Amino acid sequence: MKLLLVGESRDGRLPGEVLELFGFADVLGAETSMVLVGSPDVLPLFSGRLYLADIRLYGEYNPEVHKRLVLKAIDQERPDAVVFLHSSYGWDLAPRVAAAMKVAQVSAVTGIDGEGFTVDSCNGKMRRTVKPSTSSFVLTLQPGAFPALRISGIPEIIPIDADQATRVEYIGSRKPEAGVDLSRATVIVSAGRGIGKQEHLDLVRDLASVLGGEIGASRPVVDAGWLQRSLQVGTTGQTVSPELYVACGISGAIQHVAGMRGAGFVLAVNTDRDAPIGDVADLLVVADIVQFLPALTSRIKAWQASGF
Ligand SMILES: Cc1cc2nc3c(=O)[nH]c(=O)nc-3n(C[C@H](O)[C@H](O)[C@H](O)COP(=O)(O)OP(=O)(O)OC[C@H]3O[C@@H](n4cnc5c(N)ncnc54)[C@H](O)[C@@H]3O)c2cc1C
Repeated sequence: MKLLLVGESRDGRLPGEVLELFGFADVLGAETSMVLVGSPDVLPLFSGRLYLADIRLYGEYNPEVHKRLVLKAIDQERPDAVVFLHSSYGWDLAPRVAAAMKVAQVSAVTGIDGEGFTVDSCNGKMRRTVKPSTSSFVLTLQPGAFPALRISGIPEIIPIDADQATRVEYIGSRKPEAGVDLSRATVIVSAGRGIGKQEHLDLVRDLASVLGGEIGASRPVVDAGWLQRSLQVGTTGQTVSPELYVACGISGAIQHVAGMRGAGFVLAVNTDRDAPIGDVADLLVVADIVQFLPALTSRIKAWQASGF
């Protein structure tokens, strides 16, 4: 299989998720080339053809112009599949490319299942397997679903260009509101929808406090307005890598797991022994957080008081 990976440049650098494109290609054992609107000074390392458009001419993003550039590379490369990250860049650009090619698109792929691709449905509670029905197709990959593969090599650079006429102008992007920087925390205790009600956040806070850690959250807790958005962990929140991550009443949807996969030790507390968080947890305690968290917190306090 021949894949054309679509790289990305953000603020003058290649985001780490670009390595997941190579991880996906590796899982498929595919031949890879890449198209990138980027800087000739910041190039991905791999052995293959790199269709490169200079970001100084084409900008960090412009849907019409970048679509033309990707189509140029497709024309020359004739891949079986064009693969984007399911990032704000990929989810905007991929459908434009698929529509121009008149081929199928599968979005937010989380896995490979025979000849099909798995995607989440019902907010991550179910998985569907989808098989594109056109001979070539476009995919976007859910961040965190495939391993980041650091490879080496020097790409063969093929410069590409395109008409710069456009009806859309890219103005820029804004950083999210400043808040606690969870990426530096060594201990994070995160609250999920399973905490049931806002008052139970105190149980999560108490445990975080005795452990000297920070509080984090899954998206439903933030959407409910119980905690500020800057504390959300996951694809649309922060990516964290603490030594200890405690997931309280969190099911383990891929969008959450993508943000905490780098944790050293994961303790999950969940009433459902089959919750997907069990797949990434080092220890899954099957218990109600309302009973378990206060018991754990008071035991830790007792240990600390005894100088343990
Ligand atoms: C584009 C997109 C981006 C997203 N980005 C993010 C993101 O960045 N971060 C994120 O977290 N989500 C994100 N989501 C949402 C994600 O798909 C899930 O819906 C979400 O992570 C689920 O949160 P949860 O685990 O807290 O809730 P649920 O999935 O509802 O899970 C609750 C869990 O609590 C358990 N439970 C219930 N009661 C108790 C109890 N008393 N004690 C212990 N356990 C209990 C249940 O068994 C269940 O496993 C995104 C979704 C989309 C579509």
